Amino acid sequence: MRIDLITLFPQECTAWLNTSIVGRARRRGLAEIATADPRQWAGGRHRKVDDRPFGGGPGMVLMAPPLAGCIDHLRLQSAKSRLLVTSPQGRKLDQKTARELADESHLIVLCGHYEGIDQRLLDLYQPEPFSIGDYILSGGELAALVLVDAVVRLLPGALGNDRSAVEETFSPGHGADHPCWTRPAAFREQTVPQVLLSGDHAAIAAWQLARRMK
Ligand code: SAH
Repeated sequence: MRIDLITLFPQECTAWLNTSIVGRARRRGLAEIATADPRQWAGGRHRKVDDRPFGGGPGMVLMAPPLAGCIDHLRLQSAKSRLLVTSPQGRKLDQKTARELADESHLIVLCGHYEGIDQRLLDLYQPEPFSIGDYILSGGELAALVLVDAVVRLLPGALGNDRSAVEETFSPGHGADHPCWTRPAAFREQTVPQVLLSGDHAAIAAWQLARRMK
């Protein structure tokens, strides 16, 4: 799968994209994830990508031409792609959507910033807006990275153990995941449920199921 993030802050995204499960999935070739900076498609000496809103008001608005150039370029990289945009007004991201997106071959995620994006760009390209919750962030980068994380960990082979993605909260028929413990077996007079130390796999599975159902 390929994912392109359109962002004015590529370096900030890259640091995170190299980390943990997403970083490992990239290194293993399971996901090709890149950032694209609209400044590359901006004209003029200053490569300006934002400007003051027509009609006045606070903040800056991302200009349509650099974003259009960037999207056109990225769309040429595959036969079929799905274009999304970060927006507090969009459909709220959930595990079902993450699963659906994990089946796509090419996602392009446009990160908004400042006041927003020129409406003509949104009208012409019709990206699917998605939100990560009912609060306002300064920019779409964190939202896009949340989407990347939720999607990439679902790709076969991305987790150390593929059972991890099937056996967790929000997995179909799974319920909330059971709690977990690790060494040391005793910590501040708190102990670990005895069954987990028993080595009896059937009993452990039954105990975990019961905890999830609860
Ligand atoms: N003025 C806008 C908010 C702009 S926030 C409004 O009132 O709706 C700046 C950018 O951050 C947005 O364009 C969007 O891309 C991103 N953003 C902010 N909150 C978000 C959220 N909850 N989910 C996804 N993206 C968000």
